[in-house]
Amino acid sequence: MEKKVFVTHELPGEVIHQLSGLCDVNVWLGPGLLPASGLREELSDCDGVVCLLTDRIDRELVEALPGLRFVSSMSVGVDHIDVQALTARGIPLGHTPGVLVETTADTVFALLLAAARRVSEADRFVRQGEWRRENRWSPDFFTGKDVGGATLGLVGLGEIGQAVARRAQAFGMRVIAWNRTPKAVPGVRLQSLESVLAESDFLSVHLALAPETQGLLNTSRIAAMKPGAVLINTARGGIVDEQALAEALSSGRLYAAGIDVFAEEPVPVDNPLLSLPNVVLTPHIGSATARTRARMADIAAANAIAALRGEPMPHCANPEVYAR
Ligand code: NAP
Repeated sequence: MEKKVFVTHELPGEVIHQLSGLCDVNVWLGPGLLPASGLREELSDCDGVVCLLTDRIDRELVEALPGLRFVSSMSVGVDHIDVQALTARGIPLGHTPGVLVETTADTVFALLLAAARRVSEADRFVRQGEWRRENRWSPDFFTGKDVGGATLGLVGLGEIGQAVARRAQAFGMRVIAWNRTPKAVPGVRLQSLESVLAESDFLSVHLALAPETQGLLNTSRIAAMKPGAVLINTARGGIVDEQALAEALSSGRLYAAGIDVFAEEPVPVDNPLLSLPNVVLTPHIGSATARTRARMADIAAANAIAALRGEPMPHCANPEVYAR
């Protein structure tokens, strides 16, 4: 009998079209994203799924799908998936590392510069006619914070953290970092988390979300940040306590923030960060360029094709399943 694969969204790229030569493919065409209940129903008779980071594949779902043979996610982060539950069943999980590193590092710098130089605030000021209404210009008009010569602290020195470090060096920043595993990266000084928090004028988060990193930047660590610092988070919302961050920003203890990821996505309108003028917000678009998204889809499709052929996935998040 022909194998069945469900794809939870129409995908860009070329490789995804090769899937239909190998199996029976069913693609969710909307409207909108597939609801969680729909995923369980659609996957009930499938051998595999190609999914997005918005699709939650938890233990309960994995256990309800005895026929599931592989999962391929078009994302580098796999915190939306119960990896342990898949591994326990020997199910490989594909992801898309590497291709989105430079694109996401660019997003970090877009947010960092926008937060430092108040770009969103200034944009609103011009757009809403405030500039003409007040006919205002003065030496302290929209003054921001210098990036060149400032200290950038990286919380996490994986692929994206290192790509951000390279950009920061070109901007004349001093770069310090904390990583759980010591690693030598040119131009980056590894320090304790506490000293990175205390010394950084700009602090950028680059950890995977895991039980050990959930809530890592909690109230006390945010309070330990250098007064007047800027926080950038493009990693995962669950790593930062949003309420504590909002309080530090509204009291003026922190200068600004640039946030691409939220504890709950899409972000609820009552999230306290949304009402603060000194926060630059983007809707989880770290890797959003047409070229990078097509490359990610190609890798996700290649992972699925390898699994269908009974070969190891080229980019597997739980390669231990192949050691058995
Ligand atoms: P990576 O190269 O795999 O780096 C992961 C980092 O997280 C490393 O510093 C790693 O430390 C650390 N880490 C992983 N598990 C940990 C744990 N349990 N405790 C402490 N540290 C842990 O990944 P990357 O490509 O740089 O991406 C980093 C994260 O960015 C991804 O996981 C994803 O969530 C997020 N991301 C977001 C977007 C977006 O659109 N906003 C785009 C791409 C990625 P070690 O070096 O010690 O392993």
